Amino acid sequence: MSHLSSPSKLRITDLRFAKISGAPMGCIMVKVLTNSELVGYGEIRDWSSETYGLLLKSRIIGENPCNVDKIFRRIKQFGGPSRQAGGVCGIELALWDLAGKAWGVPVYQLLGGKFRDKIRIYSDTDMEGRPDGKKMGEALRKRMDLGFTYLKMDWGVGQLMELMEHGETGLLSAPLGYIKDFMEAGGARKYFLTDREKHNRAYDTINIAHPFTGLQITEKGLDVLEQYLADVRSVIGYDIPLAIDHCGHIGLNECIKLARRAEKYNIAWLEDLLPWQMTGAWQQLASAITVPLGTGEDIYLKENFLPLLQSGALSVIHPDILSSGGLYETKKIGDLAQDYGVAMAIHMAETPIAALAAAHTAAATENFLALEFHSVDVPWWDDLVKTASKPIINRGFIELSEAPGLGIEDLNDEVIRAHLDPSQKDIWMSTEQWDNEYSHDRTWS
Ligand SMILES: [Mg+2]
Repeated sequence: MSHLSSPSKLRITDLRFAKISGAPMGCIMVKVLTNSELVGYGEIRDWSSETYGLLLKSRIIGENPCNVDKIFRRIKQFGGPSRQAGGVCGIELALWDLAGKAWGVPVYQLLGGKFRDKIRIYSDTDMEGRPDGKKMGEALRKRMDLGFTYLKMDWGVGQLMELMEHGETGLLSAPLGYIKDFMEAGGARKYFLTDREKHNRAYDTINIAHPFTGLQITEKGLDVLEQYLADVRSVIGYDIPLAIDHCGHIGLNECIKLARRAEKYNIAWLEDLLPWQMTGAWQQLASAITVPLGTGEDIYLKENFLPLLQSGALSVIHPDILSSGGLYETKKIGDLAQDYGVAMAIHMAETPIAALAAAHTAAATENFLALEFHSVDVPWWDDLVKTASKPIINRGFIELSEAPGLGIEDLNDEVIRAHLDPSQKDIWMSTEQWDNEYSHDRTWS
């Protein structure tokens, strides 16, 4: 069948996955296959499970992938916050890719066209070893040398816990034992098969939400963190925006204490200081400090952004297109935020499929600020896909081509297989056992 002559005859026939690790996150690439040579590429959120996609397979087979919104509305009931939305979003991306390929236009054009030709990328930067603001500043400086025009780093309780591991004291107060449990819980994954009890305890520890940890930062701890920020700025200067993430699981009062120490250092936004659900606390936080606030990478669907936008607490929303409901929902979220005078940055920590899909959304959304990138130090990241021009991120920007769909010509199975997640036997394996699952799916009677 010649696809361009009959997009309306296109049908979904199969759904396949490739799970990789070290990108630097664990990532799940998605293929939606059709009754033609056309294949749609999508991706499930970082550190997630392909099961979220598999359970949707029987709900989409036989549909025309060009009817993106219709299929999205059928499957959106199976999504939820954060990773729970992985399957819905992964498929939504692949449907847009197919619709673009079938009709011969880039996805940004299907979303209403471009506001910009170049998508600004911000580089997140992690550091190993003893926390040191000057060293972090130098690492960020190297990102600037690569052409990045917007930066982000971690700052907060994490650094203080690291310093405690290096023998420093008096930085944090917490119910005794909590900090040790929390530090150990980070490696919980490795206990998964060997020690279920340890795994479950770690799971419980990392799931204590901010107001319930009892964690407090001391005056000495705040001094250390303020010096860290001063050191970073002394290296990178004040000309470039610097956003901050991963401040730690601390309650509202601690957030206010911490944020006040950041005020002098011109921070672009403080991210996820509190769980996104706690609208009232966000509002109180915003009224107590002058640093711009951002959140959103775990929020599913436009309607769940609304209370925060209405509260006036946010300067930046930060959806992940693999949690928000996909690239079309993210455009709608951006437009909604714009009505409230809020800018949209985009969270992204996955492969070039997610990066390019996010870039199409960013191109088509007016209040877009910058798109996240975690993989500067992963040399094979670019090689996972074949695109007309490389590098995909060039001097801190993605420039989208006029190629149809997401603009990915092919996937590079050799590179993908070389980074196969150890839990997997192979890539793109049969998912036949999920073809005929049936349940009476309806959310009302
Ligand atoms: Mg974040």
